[in-house]
Amino acid sequence: MGTIKDQLRLRLSEREGEMLSFLRRLIQIPTPNPPGETKAAMDLVAQFLSQRGIPYEIVAPHQGMPNLIAEFSGGSDGPRLVLNGHLDVFPAGDLSKWSYDPWAATEADGCIYGRGACDMKSGTTALLFAFAALHEIRQHLRGSLVLTVVSDEETFGPWGARYLIEHRKEVLGDCLLSGEPTSPYALRFGEKGRLWIKIRVRTPGAHGAYVHMSQNPIGIAADLIARLQSLKEIRSPADTALTITLQKNALTIDKAYGLGASGIISSTTLNLGVIKGGVKINMVPSDCEFEVDIRTPPDVCLEDVMERLREIIAGFPGVELEVMDQDAASTSPPEHPMVHALIRNAKQVSDVEPKPIIALGGCDARLWRYAGIPAFVYGPSPTGMGTADELVRVDEFLHVAKTHTLAAYDYLK
Ligand SMILES: [Zn+2]
Repeated sequence: MGTIKDQLRLRLSEREGEMLSFLRRLIQIPTPNPPGETKAAMDLVAQFLSQRGIPYEIVAPHQGMPNLIAEFSGGSDGPRLVLNGHLDVFPAGDLSKWSYDPWAATEADGCIYGRGACDMKSGTTALLFAFAALHEIRQHLRGSLVLTVVSDEETFGPWGARYLIEHRKEVLGDCLLSGEPTSPYALRFGEKGRLWIKIRVRTPGAHGAYVHMSQNPIGIAADLIARLQSLKEIRSPADTALTITLQKNALTIDKAYGLGASGIISSTTLNLGVIKGGVKINMVPSDCEFEVDIRTPPDVCLEDVMERLREIIAGFPGVELEVMDQDAASTSPPEHPMVHALIRNAKQVSDVEPKPIIALGGCDARLWRYAGIPAFVYGPSPTGMGTADELVRVDEFLHVAKTHTLAAYDYLK
């Protein structure tokens, strides 16, 4: 008969086919954001819970972007764990670049191809099955388990997790587990900050031969962009626990995010995403504007970066700076019991040992960290995320689903 945990393992193995077919059905319901319509996909999730007699509530501040909350209590008092996944996905982009229809969830070479395969319909499916499996043995658990399935994540929108956290405090809990893509050998306890700025340069402009009449705003922008590169020198202090942990796991960071990632994880980075200026070759333009995506490491505060930015811009009269959006960096304790539970169970499930690292980009987990709740992310590899041929390896998906369930079980045991 074995222990409760052995029974749980057995059930997970028996349900592999069911998990895969649910994931494929979920991918087959397109939920690109924009526009972010997720109602049909949410119906599938709701039906899954209904069929198992699990109550849920739909919270839809925006009609086309519903969120779902379900929860149950264990047999005794204990911590409250929240499982969070999103249903919206990136747009499919250029269809001609895909080897398979992005909405067909084609299974080939041990992988499932499709938009949302790794970000994050596999993670959401894994958490949903974890929730259902633990619901069956709830009398053996302590505390409570919450499932939030949300919309409006991919554009940092207001109608998903952000809404729930502001209006439904019960979704905060004591700890959050997310299934956003990380790769089986990495789990995330934090992420970098984000500062999106727009810079405008305006001059009188003139005829292209009369360059004595006006400064050239594109030239000014070029000089300014060169000066902005010095922001990259703003790094995390070398001696903090965080920097040391990240340095120790540099190989995992490169493996998870591509070679070179460990070199930028503790630095401020800049991406010049958009630049516009000028009308025709024989005119001195009268304006130029550009947008920069700045990412900051957790030990650097956004205000320090802003201050340096203002200093640089002060050297360029007539230049305007606008902050388009920003999110502070966030971290949770890398020694948290959930981290140990994920590592221990990942080893038992597939003999891989995930290393704790932080993310280069952002996800909903930060919202819990801002509220003071430790939040951790563990999911499949981010293959093709945001580009063509997004996929999830079947073995990675099943590994993540089992690890989520068993780690959540340990946390609530
Ligand atoms: Zn995501």
